[in-house]
Amino acid sequence: MNQKYICLYPSRFKLDGGAMFGIIPKPLWNKRIPADEYNRIEMSLRSLLIQRDNKIIIIDSGCGDYQGQKFNERFALASTLKSFDQLLAQHQLKREQVSDVILTHLHFDHCGGLLCGQQLELTFPNATLHLHRRQYQHAQNPTARDKGSYQIEHIENFVGQYEKKDQLHWLEGENGFIVGDLNFQTCHGHTPYQILPYNSEMMYGADLVPTAHHVDLPWVMGYDLHPGKSTEDRLEVYQFLIEKNLYYIFDHDLEFIAGRLRKKERGFEFYQLISSQQASSEEFTLNSFSVSECDK
Ligand SMILES: [Zn+2]
Repeated sequence: MNQKYICLYPSRFKLDGGAMFGIIPKPLWNKRIPADEYNRIEMSLRSLLIQRDNKIIIIDSGCGDYQGQKFNERFALASTLKSFDQLLAQHQLKREQVSDVILTHLHFDHCGGLLCGQQLELTFPNATLHLHRRQYQHAQNPTARDKGSYQIEHIENFVGQYEKKDQLHWLEGENGFIVGDLNFQTCHGHTPYQILPYNSEMMYGADLVPTAHHVDLPWVMGYDLHPGKSTEDRLEVYQFLIEKNLYYIFDHDLEFIAGRLRKKERGFEFYQLISSQQASSEEFTLNSFSVSECDK
């Protein structure tokens, strides 16, 4: 069955390049993504919308449109910030039609968009929220090191609202079923119980490999709580991606939406990369997408 994939861009944003590349020296990563005058690199916030039968599913949601000027300046959101009303209108959709929202984890740049406007109302009031219970528990008791990545008052706000409406599906365990044809695996290096949703065509990889430039196993983020575990997570997921021949969807790559993975003499590389220009208006069908001219 064909399903339609649409990439939505709540905004671009910038983070410190050193923190994004962990132990990798700047002369190496700066060749792949050049830093600005504050040493920040520009990235996308990419939500994935999947349309199938009568379901409209959204994976991850950006930072939200209510964070305020100081926040927007710090992360360079302001000029590219769009609301989900605007993003969905481009595809003749409304946020009330969204049936399911999946959060890979609760860092602010992935879940903030579940609230909107100054009243902080639910962006997708009719959706079921799919969230891993253990990631939520971690967000409530983070370490001193990752506390700044969780806006717990917002998280408890939308989780509470969904719970009250009985529209909350707690995910449990190391892997399992989410909704439609989507299942999940977990990984724990970036944050405990980050989930990776996948079907027979693709995996949305969240912060396991945030951009195509992070493909090499040791190129893991300084933000990761357990970077050594992240390299182990990757090895396991890489083998799975190759075995199933899945597209890997990047959440933070400015240029590339997705790519397939293969082994090379030393390590791994992405190929058949789909760039955001090649996928016309960010709408694409993975199994029919012409990838021949996208090979890099
Ligand atoms: Zn994260």
